[in-house]
Amino acid sequence: MKTKELLPELFEVEELAQKYNGLLKTEKLGEVSNGKYAFPIYGMSMGSTDPNAPVFGLFGGVHGLERIGTHVLLSFMRTLLYRTQWEKDWEDFFSRCRLVAIPIINPMGMALVRRGNGNNVDLMRNSPLRAEGKLIPLVSGQQISPSIPWYQGNNGIELENQLVDEFCKRYMFSSQRLITLDIHSGFGFKDRLWYPWATSSNPFPLEPQVLKLKELLDETHPFHVYKIEHQSLNYSNHGDLWDWIYQSYRTANPTGLYLPLTLELGSWLWVKKNIWQLFTWEGLFNPVKKHRYARTMRRHNQLLEFLLKASCYHETWSGS
Ligand SMILES: [Zn+2]
Repeated sequence: MKTKELLPELFEVEELAQKYNGLLKTEKLGEVSNGKYAFPIYGMSMGSTDPNAPVFGLFGGVHGLERIGTHVLLSFMRTLLYRTQWEKDWEDFFSRCRLVAIPIINPMGMALVRRGNGNNVDLMRNSPLRAEGKLIPLVSGQQISPSIPWYQGNNGIELENQLVDEFCKRYMFSSQRLITLDIHSGFGFKDRLWYPWATSSNPFPLEPQVLKLKELLDETHPFHVYKIEHQSLNYSNHGDLWDWIYQSYRTANPTGLYLPLTLELGSWLWVKKNIWQLFTWEGLFNPVKKHRYARTMRRHNQLLEFLLKASCYHETWSGS
């Protein structure tokens, strides 16, 4: 089987990179391989190259089964890039702010239709952080076996996470005001926006800023669909990637303000409306029916644009 059939999303990333070469800087961060297949991991950036510029970071495809996150991300990027061609005010906007993205963090998992990476490690359970609080056996991370989901790995930090870490350090850590959004699917009936911590139920130090951002979203888009909550209200997990990146950012920038958000698309709703989806892995995590897929593609553009703007006009939530 050709890799295009296994991973059409990767071709979409390459097509975007080529089409908007010059506007969008695309870099191969590294490559994952399993002997049979090899896939590059791409990082993208557009806008201001000023190290201090505010940044919005978009990430997807951490869990290989949750392709829809990558689709939402790419759909937003495609629309935005097209719009910058004719809506001239974006030029001024991007002269002050930077958008960065890794659309497919775990290409091997996505190609092989599995949650974990090529080593079956759950990349969202693989950082060195240990969790406390509402721990669910196995689900919160396990080191028993790679053949059970939620495997944390036994070999340190996996290559994919090392590449995310290096990318964030290079493109984001010099900024003092930033927001990131990592898109997942598979939990609950609602679309949730989670803020840290995932590894503990302690209050997030920037909760006042998160609440300001929530107020801004509520006032700007009163009919938005998102439930905004502390991630550990649902469960805690060991080795969370974004708690780890956040802590590393704060060590480097004690006064910097960084809001790492996770969008968890409520896939149970799609399953409830089309019960047959229960019987395939992809159906459990992605909308299958055409109209529902199209609705999902439309539904989140507004939020992504809101977060991009809020990152740039950070005074609205940062208070400074
Ligand atoms: Zn996920």
